[in-house]
Amino acid sequence: MNEHESRPSGSNSKEINSRQGHLFIISAPSGGGKTTLSKAVVNRFKDILYSVSYTTRSPRNSEQDGVDYYFIQKKDFEERIESGYWAEWAEVHGNYYGTSAEFLEKGLASGRDMLLDIDVQGTIQILGNYPDSITFFIMPPSLETLRKRLEMRRTESRTTIERRLLTAEKEMAQKDLYRYIIVNDQLSVSIEKLVAIIEKYHYKKKIIP
Ligand code: 5GP
Repeated sequence: MNEHESRPSGSNSKEINSRQGHLFIISAPSGGGKTTLSKAVVNRFKDILYSVSYTTRSPRNSEQDGVDYYFIQKKDFEERIESGYWAEWAEVHGNYYGTSAEFLEKGLASGRDMLLDIDVQGTIQILGNYPDSITFFIMPPSLETLRKRLEMRRTESRTTIERRLLTAEKEMAQKDLYRYIIVNDQLSVSIEKLVAIIEKYHYKKKIIP
């Protein structure tokens, strides 16, 4: 059994099969404030289940295994591709990132709303299987602002920053795939906008016949 398999808890067994959770997806270019926004959502709605992604990249400063990501080896990730472990996976900036299919399926089936913090490639895959997902694209006010935010973070080299900016530009060109676009100018305002939209869905459960 892996770390995820026993996780979705707190569900009412009577609700299984009669009600399915909403799936919220947040994407934003690196440095776009997505992590802060995701954390704000989870803090505000304690019963929303956050899907901790798996990655082959190394942890940054304060990142914790099992909290921010599950940090795994490339070989392990590739074996899990072969075994169909991922609900979606993508290669971003030379590293793999993925979401456990079982964690997602069990969480939703138990009636819990779930939150994924994934990139555009992953969102496209999830929408293929879960077309009702409620998707948010967090836009930086400009590429210049994004550059400044990445530089201030001081966790990446110049080359990495340039690479992330290039990816950001490509991702921003695909923003229309998303149901909601939030321009993240002022973080506190963006949090309120995001929370207000999520609230609408969260308290109105999806009834599955
Ligand atoms: P970072 O390395 O900055 O934490 O994340 C880099 C990118 O990978 C971000 O755009 C983030 O949304 C994306 N990402 C994180 N987890 C996943 C995941 O499970 N699947 C996919 N497709 N992308 C992810």
